[in-house]
Amino acid sequence: MRICESFGVVHVSTGEMLRSAVEKRTPLGAKAAKIMEEGQLVSDEIIQGILAERLSCQDVEDGGVLLDGVPRTVTQAEDVEAILGNLGRRLNVAINLDVPIEVAKARMLSRGRKDDTPDAIMRRLKLYEAETAPLLEWFAERAALRNVNGVGSEDEVFERIKEAITDHS
Ligand code: AMP
Repeated sequence: MRICESFGVVHVSTGEMLRSAVEKRTPLGAKAAKIMEEGQLVSDEIIQGILAERLSCQDVEDGGVLLDGVPRTVTQAEDVEAILGNLGRRLNVAINLDVPIEVAKARMLSRGRKDDTPDAIMRRLKLYEAETAPLLEWFAERAALRNVNGVGSEDEVFERIKEAITDHS
């Protein structure tokens, strides 16, 4: 993750953690597998549990963290705020990557992940509108929101994200 290298922060992706749990056939993986395949959201309680554990690790304490794919609901955002608060940290900046739906769909279809079927993609996009989009307001109220144009090459988008984070700090 180039952003993490640039800013010396730890990459924490709940999607990656869940995929790894599925692969290792842990009890968490068994619970999450079908939900993920269908493009549904795993429960806020599960996300709270895995984040509380991961965010209390030493590497996060030392370097800070880039949360990827989380929070996806207002409840998760409040949980993240509470977990970070307990660790003496806070949410500094939220990057909203702005891309037209057609571009997002094309990117998902080209990466070939198991849960990138047309049905699961449609469900994820619907859930984004219903559950995640309200978070834009939530972050804006905390003056943490940065909208970044996500259309363009990886290099272009990376430069825009870097600028948005640097401007913030
Ligand atoms: P991602 O890699 O972020 O696209 O996540 C892949 C899948 O994992 C999602 O479609 C959800 O089923 C599940 N997932 C990942 N992060 C979350 C989250 N923060 N809340 C609920 N479900 C999640």
